[in-house]
Amino acid sequence: MEGVLPIWNFRRNRSIIGKMEASAIKRPIRVRMAPSPTGSLHIGTARTALCNWLFARHVGGAFVVRIEDTDKERSEQRYENELIDGFLWLGLGWDEGPNPVGTAGDRGDLGPYRQSERTAIYKKYLEQLLADGSAYYCYCSKEDLETQRQGMIAAGLPPKYSGHCRHLEAPPAGKRPEVIRFKVPETKVEFHDLIRGKVVFDAALFGDLVIAKDLETPLYNFAVVVDDELMEISHVIRGEDHISNTPKQVLMQKALGFHEPIYAHIPLILNADRSKMSKRFNDVALANYRDRGYLPEALVNFLALLGWHPKGNKEVLSADELVAQFDLERMQQAGAVFNEEKLDWLNREHMKLLPIKDLMARVKPFFARAGVAVDDEALLEKIVTLQLSRAKTLGDFVAAGTFFFAMPAYEASLLAWKGAPLAEMKSSLEDARTALAAIPAEAFADRERLLGALDPLAAARQGRGPVFWPLRVALSGQSASPDPMEIMEVLGREESLRRIDAALKKLAATA
Ligand code: GLU
Repeated sequence: MEGVLPIWNFRRNRSIIGKMEASAIKRPIRVRMAPSPTGSLHIGTARTALCNWLFARHVGGAFVVRIEDTDKERSEQRYENELIDGFLWLGLGWDEGPNPVGTAGDRGDLGPYRQSERTAIYKKYLEQLLADGSAYYCYCSKEDLETQRQGMIAAGLPPKYSGHCRHLEAPPAGKRPEVIRFKVPETKVEFHDLIRGKVVFDAALFGDLVIAKDLETPLYNFAVVVDDELMEISHVIRGEDHISNTPKQVLMQKALGFHEPIYAHIPLILNADRSKMSKRFNDVALANYRDRGYLPEALVNFLALLGWHPKGNKEVLSADELVAQFDLERMQQAGAVFNEEKLDWLNREHMKLLPIKDLMARVKPFFARAGVAVDDEALLEKIVTLQLSRAKTLGDFVAAGTFFFAMPAYEASLLAWKGAPLAEMKSSLEDARTALAAIPAEAFADRERLLGALDPLAAARQGRGPVFWPLRVALSGQSASPDPMEIMEVLGREESLRRIDAALKKLAATA
């Protein structure tokens, strides 16, 4: 598809076509992800990045990452690293950046853009606004502002900046400029949103906006307007929480003679109780999902389905399939509920789609992190294959698979089936050992053969419990695990008998 969006794609609100500048329609499609490095990479930020990336890839446009680090106090390099790592881990590569490939500090990639490196650019446009009278220095101190605010409340007016410094002829004696303000016209501001249709704000309620602390220190709403223009951003796709910034940005675009990008404010992500998913909670950090063993493929799939749905019924989709289908027309307006069970399901489906060697390679670091040495590839393959139907995450393979590699310590009492005397368990385990020892090593891979040896014992003891329970604990050291036949198929004859012997020793010691 061409890099220019055909106008008939705007099905949701055809009337906008006539109202949009022709130049806006004809501009090459370029989108940006503009995160602030002030905290961990939130799952919602990852989702906004994904929407931009999918949109760009779908139409053959460009995807740009811009680190919005104008807030010097709150921005931190480690958070920028986390953003970049997270985007790259999800596979959301960007198309350009300010620095040549291999530049120190840029990790051999193309960027990203950083607002902190663009101060001189913002300064030029601040000076332009000051020179043409669209912006002015404000000398009001915090106390002045508070007094003005109280005055407005007392007069029954909605509080906003009074405009005190708007008409000053000269700087007030003895005062230094506190900030730079943009003159907000008292008009209605209208813009068109691809998801929400026509959106109207009353700018008369805003008051004159602070757009910079000084010429060297622009604030978000201003820097974003300059960058979106200079980076030739055609579409601004961002979270709905930014919708009230848009009219402010539109007014500044007009004052600067800039293009107005096409906006799409995507619905917020909600908790199951429909409350807003907060940035504060650590469990919404993308890294948390990565560390628990969710695949990037599954997260991409899951995040794409938050508020958007594909045309057909097929929900398990690869990044390529999502790129082929993604559009903003089928993005819903209502908040999108984060359904963790669906994520688990998608993760399992994507794990099943991986070739076994690939899955093993992804599971291995999880064992390493848990301190379990995995040197037997054949054993790992058996374990991964066995657990695949149960595991929801890569971490689950470790939780459920560690005992195969290293027998955990356990109490003899765990061997007792429903409080049965340990002497009875000992005799049951001895019978099981004798029956199993009669099976040749090659036949341990045959579940039916193992079951055939054990079932007569179960019949003699009026049920499988008194036979299978102590055997399973002897093999796994755990109260919950796959059944004993499955474990023995993986461990093989020698190791299985060794573990049973260890359990018998334990029981002998308690007698
Ligand atoms: N820097 C803003 C943020 O992290 C987003 C800016 C935008 O998308 O316009 O919330």
